[in-house]
This record gives sequence, structure tokens and C-alpha cells, in this order.
Amino acid sequence: TSTPVNVTVTGAAGQIGYALLFRIASGHLLGPDVPVKLRLLEIPQGVKAAEGTAMELDDCAFPLLAGIDIFDDPNKGFEGANVGLLVGARPRTAGMERGDLLSANGGIFGPQGKAINDNAADDIRVLVVGNPANTNALIAQRNAPDVPADRFTAMTRLDHNRAVAQLSKKLGVSVSEIKKLTIWGNHSATQYPDVFHAEVNGENAAKAISDDAWLSDFFIPTVAKRGAAIIDARGASSAASAANAAIDHVFTWTNGTAEGDWTSAGVVSDGSYGVPEGIISSFPVTAKDGRFEIVQGLDINDFSRARIDASVAELIEERDAVAGLGLI
Ligand code: NDP
Repeated sequence: TSTPVNVTVTGAAGQIGYALLFRIASGHLLGPDVPVKLRLLEIPQGVKAAEGTAMELDDCAFPLLAGIDIFDDPNKGFEGANVGLLVGARPRTAGMERGDLLSANGGIFGPQGKAINDNAADDIRVLVVGNPANTNALIAQRNAPDVPADRFTAMTRLDHNRAVAQLSKKLGVSVSEIKKLTIWGNHSATQYPDVFHAEVNGENAAKAISDDAWLSDFFIPTVAKRGAAIIDARGASSAASAANAAIDHVFTWTNGTAEGDWTSAGVVSDGSYGVPEGIISSFPVTAKDGRFEIVQGLDINDFSRARIDASVAELIEERDAVAGLGLI
């Protein structure tokens, strides 16, 4: 058996954390042969609940779970971490201005970035789930100058999976027949799910749909507003599907994308597709040898261009706001 992989989960006592930890411990994050040690990071008032979750994890007797430790100090929480799942964040509350939201999250993701920089293992890979995820990831990344920038990513895989599900319903095909779908931009209401390069059983998905009104009036808003629809129906935000997407993101990152397919992830832009270098934006990405690469050379039509630009403009505003607050 191999050495356990250290997985740090922040916000471990929250809803997503509760859905996530059991799947990590049962081998879905890294694979069925990889033992894991969980490092749960919480704020002091979350520690007791995290202890309760740890008791339940013990009670599952997961063969791959090599240990659980709980911390409220980020420096200790990220010690030796190989994977960091940054789930805990400060949510927007009624009447909160964007500047307040960004500075509250800067107070979380700045110190966590620094703690990662100073304490994590050399191969650390970070996924930020907590919102505003792209900009929180940017704050963490910029506070970790010694870690290669491409180790910091933001989650748009849930948006991606939601888009695949909607498309499969529309076309009456199974989800596994849909390839090369893309989420562009910010994980927010401005995100753009793009079907123009997607394939359904090898055929172009936009052609198979051939219904522009469905795309602009149903598909795009349904994917972008799915979170709100779930809150409406369940009376609580999506947690199991968000946890599932985090599992998918890291599994794909470490195990690779299939030949002839790609996925979506928020990664540091290299300037591709006119997205300013350095911001963390969602792109079509392949994964190989533990690295995401932005898919190159796609033709972007006018319909897509306008929507990508609008979402990227929002990311630029968020970056400028956190720069103005001295958070990056
Ligand atoms: P959740 O576990 O439901 O959500 C956590 C984060 O994930 C939020 O930022 C939330 O954003 C985001 N999120 C929720 N749904 C989705 C989705 N569908 N797709 C993408 N992102 C999503 O929140 P809880 O309040 O249950 O738990 C948060 C925990 O984090 C608490 O236990 C708290 O103590 C802890 N925490 C820990 C910190 C730390 O370790 N330093 C710092 C801050 C909090 P949104 O708000 O937009 O729903």
C-alpha cells in the first residue's frame, strides 16, 4: 500500500463538507487504491460539529481512511497537504455590498493562501468551491507566491454537469454521449454554458438542438440559475451535487480527461481567448499528467463572444476590487 495522501477540507462542518467527506474517505476523490488522511479546517465555532462528522467517518470503517485531524489554525490545517478543497467561505447576506463580501472573503482566502504557501506539500493542488469562487481562488493564489499558479483552480464543474444534464434531457440521449461542453467565465449568474463545440454521439450539439430560442431563453438561464431553483425546491442550497462536482474536478485533474473530450474548470488565464492573463476564469480544459491545459484554437462565434466577454468583464471588476482593497 502507498503513503496516504493528505487532503485538507475547509468548511468541513458545513453542508457541502458533510456530503464531501464521506466520498473522499470512500476513495472517490483519488481512486480506489489511494489511502487518504483528512485534515478538517474550521473556524473555532465549527470545530465541535466537525468532531461529530469525524465520529461518523470513524463509524464507516472506511478501509482507505488513514486518519482524521481537526484544526482551526490554517497553518496547521494545510501542513503537508497534497490536496486542498477550500469550501468554507463568507456567504453574501442581505444588504451586503460587494466590497464587504470581497473583504470578508479576503480575510479567509488571503491567510489560507499564505498557509498553503508556507506549509503545504510541494505537489499541492487547490480547488476553491466557496463563493465568489473565482476571485477567492485568485486571492489565495496571489498570497502563495512560491506555489506554481496553475495549482490554484476554481470550481465550475457543477455548472458543467448541470449543462450536460439539461442537454441530455433535451436531446433524449444519455449524459455519457455528450462531449466537449464548455462553461466560460465566472461561477456566477454571468457564466456562459457553450454548446457550439459540444458533440452528441459525434455530431455537433448546436446543430442537433437547432433551436436558438431554447438556447438563449431556456438552456443558458436554467444552468445559470439552477442553484436558486434548488434552494426554492429543497429549502436549502445544493450540497450533494456541489460535493459531487468537487470530487469530479479533482479526480479529472489527477486522472486525466478521456481522449476526445474535455471538461470545464476555473484556471489561471494565460491570455487565451482574449481573457486577461492572471485572472481565474473558466475555460474548456483537458487534463493530463496532473495538469490542466486550456483547449486551444476554438472558433468563437458572435453569440458566444458577447457572453464570454460579459462574464470576463465581471471577473475583471472583481479582480480590480480586491486589488483596490489590498487583498492581492
Ligand atoms: P455550504 O457548505 O452550503 O457552502 C459552502 C460554500 O460553497 C459557500 O461559499 C457556497 O456559496 C458554496 N456553494 C454552495 N453551493 C454551491 C454550488 N452549488 N456550487 C458552487 N458553490 C457552492 O455552506 P455552510 O454554511 O453549510 O458551511 C460553511 C462552513 O464553512 C461552515 O461550517 C463554516 O463554519 C465554515 N467556514 C470555515 C472557514 C474556515 O475554514 N476558515 C471560513 C468560513 C466558513 P454560496 O454562499 O454562494 O451558496
